[in-house]
Amino acid sequence: MTHFIFVTGGVVSSLGKGISAASVAALLEARGLQVTMVKMDPYINVDPGTMSPFQHGEVFVTEDGAETDLDLGYYERFLRRAKMTKLNNFTSGRVYQDVLNKERRGDYLGGTVQVIPHITDNIKERVLRAGEGYDVAIVEIGGTVGDIESLPFMESVRQLMVELGHKHSMLMHLTLLPYVSSAAELKTKPTQHSVKELLSIGIQPDILICRTEHDVDADTTRKIALFTNVQARAVIVCKDAKTIYQIPRNFSEQQVDDLICERFGFDNLPKADLSDWDQVCEALFNPEYTVRVAMVGKYVELPDAYKSVNEALLHAGIQNRVKVQIDYVDAESLESQDLSILSTANAILVPGGFGERGTEGKMAAIRYAREQGIPFLGICLGMQLAVIEYARHVANMPEASSTEFNRSTKYPLIGLITEWLDERGELQQRNLESDLGGTMRLGAQKSELVAGTKTREIYGKAEITERHRHRYEMNDRFIAPLEEAGLKISGYSSVQHLVETVEIPAHPWFVAVQFHPEFTSSPRDGHPLFASFIDAAKKQYQKGQ
Ligand code: GLN
Repeated sequence: MTHFIFVTGGVVSSLGKGISAASVAALLEARGLQVTMVKMDPYINVDPGTMSPFQHGEVFVTEDGAETDLDLGYYERFLRRAKMTKLNNFTSGRVYQDVLNKERRGDYLGGTVQVIPHITDNIKERVLRAGEGYDVAIVEIGGTVGDIESLPFMESVRQLMVELGHKHSMLMHLTLLPYVSSAAELKTKPTQHSVKELLSIGIQPDILICRTEHDVDADTTRKIALFTNVQARAVIVCKDAKTIYQIPRNFSEQQVDDLICERFGFDNLPKADLSDWDQVCEALFNPEYTVRVAMVGKYVELPDAYKSVNEALLHAGIQNRVKVQIDYVDAESLESQDLSILSTANAILVPGGFGERGTEGKMAAIRYAREQGIPFLGICLGMQLAVIEYARHVANMPEASSTEFNRSTKYPLIGLITEWLDERGELQQRNLESDLGGTMRLGAQKSELVAGTKTREIYGKAEITERHRHRYEMNDRFIAPLEEAGLKISGYSSVQHLVETVEIPAHPWFVAVQFHPEFTSSPRDGHPLFASFIDAAKKQYQKGQ
């Protein structure tokens, strides 16, 4: 039977609930348990797929093609054995949609459909299903205790805890201990109040994670324990860390794992071996020097919009023993053709994106990287633009474009697969998977890398699996002229033979990929493409010394 740890947050948002939950998960995994994680989001959007990255940060794509909250990225980066799926993230909107569909179908036989029990039952079923087959499922509730929106989730958790019982469920609550400088004191009152709020909906927390900027003395933790009816050993201090990857070690020092294992009756488990996490921190704290990567994008005001790319670069720095400084460059600012801001970059990256805005600026940056021999990595839209830039300036197709932003271009290098097959009357012949064309290519797919290419050498194998999230594809009628002009197609998707990766053999390091390698990078294992990219950035840095 699966054991559940529910995670709520109080006082304020942005306390790092996802990271704390993931750190506990990593710690339990290090004890040999099979651990999975779930995120329940109280908003009404059916999924985060259409939400603005400006507001909501990146959309994280799972192996099975679900568009999910960026917290699932943390979950995968902290866990080695569990992969997130469609089951691991759901919203109020999704739950209501389900219940309303059933209501329209007549499944409720004319009964009154209510939040309790119909909405809460749907939530409970989803939680139980996601936990199936695991020793422990850690279930995070988005938002803050007291929010109107999250009440049905809280109520479902309350019911589940009664049904599962003490030996199979726990609740971990995250709070803030603010420091009031005029009193030179850490204040526990907001914590007391947020626990009171939880109690008013019938939930007693078992563990408190107290976020703080300062050290917390034993008197304070005792006081918190007393007022919140939590054991003193279960009041865990989470002082701001230099890196989030220290938190599993921090929690282990406070024996959070022992507390959980005792409660759930996991006896005789090995101690947690956290040496791989220690190595990650050691490398982060002792870089040999700093390399600078210019990230040319559209959502640069909110770095969370590129969360997984940022993390993948950090991981590549760990592997290469350098600090990677990311300089965010607003693509539109490059449209004046003043590229001096790129002059300090040891490498340039153009990440994924949607729509026309900023594309000319991104292509100016790509051209600069190509002409100056600066290492370049293009991801998704970044690859599409690299291909267009090459066609325009090297392969003699001056008006080359993508039908995403120019429907009447003479050279539709990038288009919807249905468009370019139709143009040749081949739409019927090619056996298209029903979801290709118009809709997104989503989730993990296999590609074959071409022998003798840099891409193949980087991965060290011929067949790779990477995650996708895009509608447009490179039109294969342009492969021959581009290859003649010196751009090499280095990988094709296994099933549809679509262009997956391109490179410029004559350039020191110029690789662009249609998929999103950032989603599978992790601090302990990195990702070959990012590792090689940062290795190239190091060489570029050394050249400049
Ligand atoms: N807008 C492009 C497409 O849909 C690229 C998407 C992306 O970069 N994720 O194909």
